Amino acid sequence: MLNPDNTFTATVLGLPRIGPNRELKRAVESYWAGRIAAATLHDIAAGLRAAQLLRIRDIGLDSVPVGTFSYYDHVLDTAALLGALPDRVRGIEDELDRYFAAARGTAEVAPLEMTKWFDTNYHYLVPELSAATEFSLHPAKPLAELKEALALGVPARPVILGPITFLKLAKSVDGSDLLDRLPDLLPLYERLLGLLAETGARWVQLDEPVLVTDLSETELALVHTVYRRLAEVSARPALLVASYFGRLGAALPILAATGVEGIAVDLVAGGDADVAAAQPLRDTLVVAGIVDGYNVWRVDPDRALPRLAALREGGAQVAVSSSCSLLHVPYSLDAETALEPRLRSWLAFGAEKIEEIRMLASALHEGQDAVSEQLEIARTAVQDRRSDTRLHNATVRARLAGATDARRAPAAERRTLQQQRLDLPLLPTTTIGSFPQTGRIRVARAELSRGEIDRTEYEARMRAEIAEVVALQEDIGLDVLVHGEPERNDMVQYFAEQLDGFAATVNGWVQSYGTRCVRPPILFGDVVRPAAMTVGWSTYAQSLTTKPVKGMLTGPVTILAWSYIRDDQSRADTARQIALAIRDETVDLEAAGIGIIQVDEPALRELLPLRHADQAAYLDWAVDAFRLATSGVADATQIHTHLCYSEFGEIIGAIAELDADVTSIEAARSHMEVLDDLTAAGFDLGVGPGVYDIHSPRVPSPEEIGRALGLALKAVPAERLWANPDCGLKTRRTDEVTASLRNLVAAAQALR
Ligand code: GLN
Ligand code: ZN
Repeated sequence: MLNPDNTFTATVLGLPRIGPNRELKRAVESYWAGRIAAATLHDIAAGLRAAQLLRIRDIGLDSVPVGTFSYYDHVLDTAALLGALPDRVRGIEDELDRYFAAARGTAEVAPLEMTKWFDTNYHYLVPELSAATEFSLHPAKPLAELKEALALGVPARPVILGPITFLKLAKSVDGSDLLDRLPDLLPLYERLLGLLAETGARWVQLDEPVLVTDLSETELALVHTVYRRLAEVSARPALLVASYFGRLGAALPILAATGVEGIAVDLVAGGDADVAAAQPLRDTLVVAGIVDGYNVWRVDPDRALPRLAALREGGAQVAVSSSCSLLHVPYSLDAETALEPRLRSWLAFGAEKIEEIRMLASALHEGQDAVSEQLEIARTAVQDRRSDTRLHNATVRARLAGATDARRAPAAERRTLQQQRLDLPLLPTTTIGSFPQTGRIRVARAELSRGEIDRTEYEARMRAEIAEVVALQEDIGLDVLVHGEPERNDMVQYFAEQLDGFAATVNGWVQSYGTRCVRPPILFGDVVRPAAMTVGWSTYAQSLTTKPVKGMLTGPVTILAWSYIRDDQSRADTARQIALAIRDETVDLEAAGIGIIQVDEPALRELLPLRHADQAAYLDWAVDAFRLATSGVADATQIHTHLCYSEFGEIIGAIAELDADVTSIEAARSHMEVLDDLTAAGFDLGVGPGVYDIHSPRVPSPEEIGRALGLALKAVPAERLWANPDCGLKTRRTDEVTASLRNLVAAAQALR
């Protein structure tokens, strides 16, 4: 039952942790390199946390999440908290080194696997559990971070990953059902709740994002059992169960009946379904995630306030919050002095979102007059954004509204035409696009950005790289060559920088995993391609060889997935705009004599909605965007695509519908089994199952590659099979790549 003296009005679900200027990244990497001691690392981290907490305290949130700080990943932190690091690191004496060993491996031990955190661009480490895992509680980190915050006078609310999500995200190494381990885990959570209460926590947040995915009846029943039991702990803090990234659906009434004091709902990704369901929750604090924690737009108070008011009128007590942790947005706009002021006024990063939440909470609880000035500024910015002509490009919109035929001739007809044009041998050999990013390339890029060389010099150096890579491929004897992508810093940013409608930040870093941070572009307007983006590089490469050179583009779904995108139109519409720009590029490449064009879609699977019911609609627009991007060329021009994974699952049918003439995929680790799945889904196009794993420096022998190709030939006829590595080569060394590709060519030739 909610105690009226123990409620709050404004919060966020979690905080970024890399530091406003990536200080944590640098400190952790320095520690790894042996340049700083553990004590120094701890000091730097504590300083970052304190500065962040003080800033939030001053903005005036009356409940502040603590413990979302991490040296690497919060799921790994939870495994450490519960004594569930893998056995293979147990021998490592030092606690911090043991933790990092689980994260990154050492010369002796392999790291945990890493995978996507729900449908975001953050990656977590997958705990390895079994029926035999002996859990034990190691609460020093959450307790210390709680004490630290309380000492600063911050109304701290510890955040812990909930037991159901923890078990559902872990990997069962013995095939046992990990949810069977709940009875062993719950006593630890119960003890932890007691310890947190003793230390002074009045609320605890248990994160259960897995509740927004499809759960079975049994699992829903477990939600009831688990939270009922935790609610029965005596002398515990009030419990806030936090969901995010979607709607709770059936889990909401179940949770509400357990006796937990608060439930966080995501009103951005989840829409209003949970709001309607939340209305009878008179005894629960509804933490309303109305400020988008996964995007960078300023909130529209005239849309947010009525929704919050409706929630309250339904009888619920309402606190205003972010829709998810602020982990997914940059720290603040402070550093973005180079952004065009108009665009900047439309944005809210982490710190600005916290201010928005404070503003909305005041408007809701004290009335709009209390914050009239701030509301006015917000309204003006929102209005201004709507009226900017760059968001309404008549030419692009007319082109998209017109009938653009996204179909090509049947695949078999195309195959004949392409074969006449390209005259490729059986089992053609090729690569995925990038060649090693050499020191020379990095130096050139750094010198260009420091202004030490000009564009002309930079381009000359890139052409020299291309010439070398083409010569190398000819020497190796590959059949379809690439230019090597030396000019690309990143496969999305490179295109975003050249398209209108995108903006880049100078300091908008977000954590992707561990110390790896990315700076997603901001897609704010209608997408227009002012000029060709890749034609010069591809035609230069083609001018150096008589072998076909494959043009390289990033697909619309991937560009969308790795950018902050506009929230004023559907993702489908945004994807179509990007697709049109890519389509224009394919047409220009073709006109310039390029006969093969690859459109990479490594993110196709990532954006798949969490709930089954939403997946078909997504796949529809994603496939549609890809086809729009790739159907502007003649049937004799060969379209390739590349997908970075082999577990297709729900999307296997969509891969066939992409209708790319050749699809390269990861397959080495699954021993080519994926090919049978593809065939079963009706796929009968060209396929290049990666025949070796580029993520390892190991050079595969011709025999090993030959065996992989032999396996592939059992599932796919030779006329459709290609031989290639499983991903781009940019992270490898030239000597490794050269040796591996020579063996690849030898293996293909032996089989022909
Ligand atoms: N063409 C890109 C490359 O080779 C593809 C990268 C990727 O799959 N993520 O680097
Ligand atoms: Zn890849």
